[in-house]
Amino acid sequence: MTIDVKDKKVLVRVDFNVPLNDDLQITDDTRIKRALPTINKLLADGGAVILMSHLGRPQKKLNEDGSINVKKFTLRNIAPHLSTLLNRPVQFTDDCIGSDAEAKSAALQAGEVLLLENTRFHAGESKGDRALAEGLSKLADVYVNDAFGTAHRAHASTAVVADFFSAEQKSFGLLMESEIENADKVLKTPQRPLVAITGGAKVSDKLLLLERLIDFADTVIIGGGMAYTFFKAQGGEIGNSICEDDKLDLALDLMKQAKEKNTKLLLPTDNIAADAFSPDANTQEVDSMSIPAGWEGLDIGPKSIEAFSAAVAEAKTIIWNGPMGVFEFDKFAVGTNAIANAVAAATKNGAFSLIGGGDSVAAIKKNGLDSEVSFVSTGGGAMLEYLEGKELPGIKAIRS
Ligand code: AMP
Repeated sequence: MTIDVKDKKVLVRVDFNVPLNDDLQITDDTRIKRALPTINKLLADGGAVILMSHLGRPQKKLNEDGSINVKKFTLRNIAPHLSTLLNRPVQFTDDCIGSDAEAKSAALQAGEVLLLENTRFHAGESKGDRALAEGLSKLADVYVNDAFGTAHRAHASTAVVADFFSAEQKSFGLLMESEIENADKVLKTPQRPLVAITGGAKVSDKLLLLERLIDFADTVIIGGGMAYTFFKAQGGEIGNSICEDDKLDLALDLMKQAKEKNTKLLLPTDNIAADAFSPDANTQEVDSMSIPAGWEGLDIGPKSIEAFSAAVAEAKTIIWNGPMGVFEFDKFAVGTNAIANAVAAATKNGAFSLIGGGDSVAAIKKNGLDSEVSFVSTGGGAMLEYLEGKELPGIKAIRS
C-alpha cells in the first residue's frame, strides 16, 4: 500500500460483516480487527478515511412492508466498537451515497473517520450498479479495497467503484495484500512437499478446488462428508452417510487424475459412525468401506487421524480447507481437532500453513491455535475461488 494519501479523502471498502447476537452486540470482531492496520496506516499517513461495508443480507430479509430492516442491519451497530478500537470518534451517515454522505465526506479532515451506512441497503450493490458505484466514488480521491472476504463478488463497492478511479488512485489495503501474498506462497512458490487438506460436506462444492489441488499439490487429503462419495464410488457400503450419487463417476475420475499426475490422494480408512445425526448419538469405529446399514459416518477414525497427521508432519507447505467431520458436535470434532493440532505442530517445525475457509478457521480458533499457524484467511468463498485459480473481481478491479 504505497499510495500517497496525505490530505486526501480515502474511500476504503472493508469487511465489517461481523456476527451480531439478538441484542445486536458483536460476537466476533475479528474482521474489524483485521482491517485496523490499513485504517491506522491511512490515518497516520494523513488521509481522511471513509469506510464502507455491507452487513448481512438486508435485501433478503426485508420487513413485511418491503422496507429495509434498518435496526438489525445498520452499520451504526458497529460504530461504537470501531471507535473504541481506533481510539477516535467515528462519524456516521445514514446513506452511503447522496447529499449527506457527500457533505460529511467533503468536511472530513485528515485523521478523521466517517463510516457509511450498509452498502447493501441499496439493491444495486449486489448487482454491481454503476450509478451506485459512481455515487460512492464521488466521496473520495482515492479508493482502497481491503475487503478480501467479498473480493469474489463483482459488487458496486467491491469492484465497479474502482472503474471511477485511475490506476494511481486505487490500491489494495494491507489485509488484501497479505491475503494475496500468502495464497500465492502456496499457489506460486510452494516449498515441497505441499500437502492440501480438504473436507466439508460436498464434493460438488469443492470440485474445482480438488482438480486444481490434484494438479499442483504433492498430497491431497480428502476428509469430511465428501469422502463418502469416494467410498461408494469404489464399491464401499456407506450406510446412511452423506453422499452425492450423481458424483460417483467424478470421484473415480479425480482418483484417476491423481494417479496420472502422481499426486498422493489420501482418503480415510476408518470412520466414526453414528446411529443418528445428533450430538449424543451412539457411535462405533468402522472401516470406511463397510459402514453398517442404519449408521452414518460423521468423523474420521483413529487410523485416518494417524495417517493424515503423518502426512501433515512431512509437509513444508500446508493448505487446509474444510473440516474432517461434523465438528459442530464435540463428539465428532476429534478428527478436525487432531488435524488442527497436526497443522500447528508442522508449522512449529518450519512448514508454512494457510488456513482458508470458514469452518477450518473456526476449528483452528476453537482449538486456540490461530497464532500457531502461518496465515488464517478472512475469506471463505473468496479464498476458495482464489485457490481454484479464478481471477477475483475485487482484485482485477484494482489491477486493471
Ligand atoms: P463446507 O461448508 O463444504 O466446508 O462443509 C462444512 C460442513 O460439512 C460442516 O457443517 C460439517 O458439519 C459438514 N460435514 C463434515 N463432515 C460431515 C459428514 N461426515 N457428514 C455430514 N456433514 C459433514
